[in-house]
Order: sequence, then C-alpha cells, then structure tokens
Amino acid sequence: MQDYVFTVTERFCRYVTIDTTSDPNSNTYPSTPKQKDLAKLLGKELHELGLHPIVDEFGYVYACLPANTKKSFTPIAFIAHIDTTSDCSGTGVKPIIHRSYHGQDIVLPDDHNQVLSPRDMPYLLTHLDKDIITASGKTLLGADDKSGLAVIVDMVHYFYIHPDIEHGDIFIVFTPDEEIARGTAKIDMDKIKAQYAYTLDGGALGTIEDECFNARALTLTIKGVSFHPGAAKDRLINPIKLAARIIDELPAQLAPEHTEGRQGFIHPHKIEGSATDCQIHFLLRDFDVRQLTVYEDLIRLTTEEVLKKYQSAGYHIAITEQYKNMKIVLDQHPQVMKLAEDACKKALVPVKNKLIRGGTDGSLLSFMGLPTANIFTGQQAIHSCKEWIGVEDMKSAVKVLVALVQLYVAE
Ligand SMILES: [Zn+2]
Repeated sequence: MQDYVFTVTERFCRYVTIDTTSDPNSNTYPSTPKQKDLAKLLGKELHELGLHPIVDEFGYVYACLPANTKKSFTPIAFIAHIDTTSDCSGTGVKPIIHRSYHGQDIVLPDDHNQVLSPRDMPYLLTHLDKDIITASGKTLLGADDKSGLAVIVDMVHYFYIHPDIEHGDIFIVFTPDEEIARGTAKIDMDKIKAQYAYTLDGGALGTIEDECFNARALTLTIKGVSFHPGAAKDRLINPIKLAARIIDELPAQLAPEHTEGRQGFIHPHKIEGSATDCQIHFLLRDFDVRQLTVYEDLIRLTTEEVLKKYQSAGYHIAITEQYKNMKIVLDQHPQVMKLAEDACKKALVPVKNKLIRGGTDGSLLSFMGLPTANIFTGQQAIHSCKEWIGVEDMKSAVKVLVALVQLYVAE
C-alpha cells in the first residue's frame, strides 16, 4: 500500500463534527434522531464508492462490497458504531490535528484545564513525529467509534481504486446506540450474509480482542418495617440502614476500583429507597461465567446474615442477564482470531491480545450466530474531553483490514 493516499483522516474529521450522542433515557430507535444525520452521510459516501447502501429508519447502515472474482472467499463483515457516549458532550466537536507531535504536554484551547500529558498517557510517546488528533477541550472527540467508521470507509475506498485486488463479499454495518447497549436491538441479521465479523472499536495499535466480561445485573430489594419515627422505638426496621450494612459486609477487594486484568467484581452502582423498602442495583462481572453465580450467592448469604436479627424484615433478588463472554463462541471458530493476527503481521503491526473489561456489540452478535472479534483503531482516553487518536494508528487499521480481506480466500 506504499503509494496509497489514505482518506481516513479527512473522513474522521468530517464524521466527528456531526453530533451523534445517544441517550440512555430515550425509548426511541435510534435513541436520538440526530444519529441518522451521520448514517445518511455514511450512506452517501459509500454510494459514491460504488456501493448500494441501505440506511434504515432505525439509523442502521448496511452495505456490501460484492466479490470481484470467481475465486471462493468466505464472506465477512466489518462493523462500527455511529453514536457517542452521553458521559461527555458531543455537541460542536472541533477536531484539531497536531502535526508531528514532539512529546510535549498538549493544552486544549477551549479549556486550559484539559491537558494531555505523556506522564499520564505514555501511549502519546509512541506517536513522536507523527500527527495526532484531539478535540478542543469542551467536548469528547468521538474517536470511539468514528475512527472505526472512517477506517472501514477508507478500506472500501482502497478497493474502489484498486479493482484488480481480488476479494469476496464484504458486508459493512454501521450501528446506532452501541454506547447504551442497544446496538443490536433493531439489527437485521438477514442483511448481513457474512460468516464472520469484526468490530472496529479497539484501542492501541495491534490490539485484537476476543474476550469480554460475562455480565448480569442483580437487584436486591430489602423490605423493612416502617413506623412513625416518633413512635418507632423497638419497632422500626429501616431498610436503608440494612442496605448500607450489606454493602459494607461484601468483600472490599471485589470492586471495580480494586480489580484489573482478568479479575471480576461486584459493583453496587445505584441505590434507591425509603423507610419501607430499599433497592440496591448491582452489576456482576467476570470472565468466568461460573463466578457470576458465586457473586450472587455471596450477596444472598451476606443479606441473610445481616437480616438474621430482624424477623420482620425480608428481601428479594431479581437477576437480569446482560451479555456473555464472546470467547465461548470464538473458541469454536479459531480462524477469526488467527486471520486477524496474520493480517496484522502482513501489515507489520505487532499483535497485542487484550481483554475487554466491559461489553461489546461483538458479544451480542457472536451469540446471535455471527462470531465477531474486535480490532484496534487507535482510540485513546475515550468518553472524555481528553480523547485523542493517532493518524498512523488509523492508517495501520486500514492496512490490517485490506490484508485481512485477502486472507479469507478459501483453500
Ligand atoms: Zn465504542
């Protein structure tokens, strides 16, 4: 790809200026209509590259770059998400390209308190003398996941100007509402006739991920005994205080603030209640699905222990499955990871296997019958005003996709 003039940077800078913040409190699909603005632009750009994309009412974009050879290729799909998180403003994003970075602190112009420093972001130093892109200080950048969109469209552009390079059917899917875990809520799997897929939504150069958490939500409802506080002596059982004791009795180390790598956790993230009853909302997370049951039992036993002294108090536990570790599926299809690693090697990108300490659309898709791993785009410090990305990382991701497509030739 020596002579190729990449289009990924200009596409990226165009996409980030369009506000696509999703809204977890909305009941519509997509959760915010503005996501369709970018969906339409993506449809237009894919159309200009000779594809016939479908932009549907829910904000999904589907397209296929059809096979250009009689040779037998396995059809694959590339997926990225259109929305950005509501944790940080996505309105009025101004991308700034910092040419040939020299290792200095970068003070963002619209808020001088927002400083990107290699002291807390050592990854910046891998971009010495290269271009990096930041926002201006008051908004996120949106590299999560507009870098994924830009990388995929640039790959299509590459094949558009190199019609001589043989490939099979390549399906392209851009989804809304990934950040609020609804990226596959209205997806039409019939439009994706691929055998395997990759999301383009990963971090550092060379990162390929095939594992995410197993996730359950647990709601513990504690019933107390309410009484007028003036006449409550020896009668009131305050469930708010019981809730506080239960949380306090759970192992302190089994918490997101004390775990990393392969360790799981119990995370009480919301509490609501009155002197009558009180609810604690927990997130249970672990790479080993059996551990989730261990965490459930731990909460149950701790609750019974705390409530032992209060005959009139009671409790109830409700559990919701959220997502599962996609490795369970991907282990049955080792070629998905193997070919991604081979593609990195072909593109001279060092491979790093990493774990996703969270969920991903790839997990949901894998369990819907489309084994899906995750590939890097270079996005850094996501969900914050300090979000940034290296131009060379995005170009490397394009190179990896171009190599990967060609590896799916059937033997
Ligand atoms: Zn993302």
